[in-house]
Amino acid sequence: MQVCPNCGASYEAADFRDNYFCPHCKTITPCDPGLDHFAALGFTPPACDRPELKSRYLELNRLLHPDRYTTAPEPHRQASLVNVSKVNDAYRCLDDTVSRARYWLELCGKPLGSDGDGLKPALASELFELQELASRLTSGADDGEAKRSAEAAVRSLQERIGEAESVVEEALSQWPHGDDDAVAGLSGRLAEIAYLNTAVRNLKGAMEDGCRRSVA
Ligand SMILES: [Zn+2]
Repeated sequence: MQVCPNCGASYEAADFRDNYFCPHCKTITPCDPGLDHFAALGFTPPACDRPELKSRYLELNRLLHPDRYTTAPEPHRQASLVNVSKVNDAYRCLDDTVSRARYWLELCGKPLGSDGDGLKPALASELFELQELASRLTSGADDGEAKRSAEAAVRSLQERIGEAESVVEEALSQWPHGDDDAVAGLSGRLAEIAYLNTAVRNLKGAMEDGCRRSVA
């Protein structure tokens, strides 16, 4: 329940715009600081339609932009700053599949890592091999073969990260509420994406190191 500081009306937000403007007198009002990112833009978590997300974000950004309130009373200027910052944070979080999924797990009370998403043995040994490959590159003992293997590995890892992100996106858009397995599945998938991203970063770093050594 929000109370409008301007007209005194109390109301529940029936529309995402009501978080930021009183639906009765239409005055800008500071949003509830505890509003979650989904509620901030009027989505039922964890689904979030991308074109709709963008369109709501652009509309709110335009309506709330501090430039519109430069000559407005101080409380309205403050409300504009608070609201714009809330909308920006929500948009940044929801627009990225992985950050939206991680945020959703936090809302479920099961943030990533809390259940000890153990590294599966197959992935662990694969990561170990990639680490060996990175060491060969940085040691400078590479005759070109390690670099070619690393380039191929990075391409294939990036493809797998893309596929895993599509699976996450799909899971979020058809979320089976009340299903604990879904939470565990999402955690596992996100942990895997994080491991793969680390492997890509390590290999790319090692390739740069290898290049610097061969130039020096
Ligand atoms: Zn009002």
